[in-house]
Amino acid sequence: EFDVLVVGGGPAGASASIYSARKGLNTGIVAERFGGQVADTLAIENFISVKATEGPKLVAQLEEHVKEYDVDVMHNQRAAGLERVNNKYEITLENGATLKAKSLVLATGARWREMNVPGEQEYRGHGVAYCPHCDGPLFKGKPVAVIGGGNSGIEAAIDLANIVEHVTVLEFADTLRADEVLIRKANSLNNITIIKNAQTTEVLGDGKKVTGLTYTDRVTGDSKALTLAGIFVQIGLIPNTEWLKISDLELSKFGEILIDAKGATSLPGVYGAGDATNIPFKQIIIAMGSGATASLGAFDYLIRNSEE
Ligand code: FAD
Repeated sequence: EFDVLVVGGGPAGASASIYSARKGLNTGIVAERFGGQVADTLAIENFISVKATEGPKLVAQLEEHVKEYDVDVMHNQRAAGLERVNNKYEITLENGATLKAKSLVLATGARWREMNVPGEQEYRGHGVAYCPHCDGPLFKGKPVAVIGGGNSGIEAAIDLANIVEHVTVLEFADTLRADEVLIRKANSLNNITIIKNAQTTEVLGDGKKVTGLTYTDRVTGDSKALTLAGIFVQIGLIPNTEWLKISDLELSKFGEILIDAKGATSLPGVYGAGDATNIPFKQIIIAMGSGATASLGAFDYLIRNSEE
């Protein structure tokens, strides 16, 4: 039985496991893929104190740091269910095994919704980007597109307009779903163009990087092309919490694990961290901070609730 079982091996889970092990707690970490989204990232320039690094390198360092401690790391294991039994918890894995713990840190992260058009995968990290805070500066002085006219798309466009040469926003529907105040701000900037009724059909590239995209004007049916250096896909971030929907744990309407300032969820002894939760802003440094918070929260819970 673990004192703290961490579910998820991204930056939030890695941080949680180290903080928990450093408290002398019997700690386990179960992860479908250690490293999480960081494993899919090329350049990282906003992990403060490290000027520049790359995803796989940071993942290796995370793993090395976790291995410094007595943490039971269970790779390639997917959690499928959570159950509360006598004030303790059981995590069922997809392979049928059950792990028992006095407290949990849930840090299963999130995934960006993709466009699913030709070229998107090929040029992911080579012009196709999902995080304006992360990759915006890579396109300084160049033309980019933002796919999606919701709040995150319009926020991204306003953010990028400060850095890049020009931003074209492509929205599938005939109206923008973003808040009025954001739309007004975007319309006031002379280097943002918003195109509605636009269905992106293909990411174009030269074999190495993005050179543009094609879209269909859904009103006229015409196919059109844009010349671009970057494409920011902003059509949704989906928390990996489907497996929690059958439990008693409270989720937001977007499926995010609801946590308070100490990382506590609606279940006593269960903490949440990182992109899977309702904390605003999804970043590596924020996920790591919230992993630390969650483990300190779990420690606080354990010293108040241990039977011995
Ligand atoms: P994740 O990294 O998503 O990790 C989730 C973990 O949970 C993984 O180990 C996963 O395998 C595991 N998991 C999921 N479901 C289950 C399950 N059912 N059972 C067991 N394990 C499960 N942020 C920055 O700060 N700077 C950047 O430059 C940057 N660039 C990015 C580029 C890309 C392409 C992407 C996709 C993201 C980028 N981000 C960047 C965002 C950053 O990667 C995330 O905010 C951060 O990884 C979130 O950490 P996390 O631990 O909460 O979740």
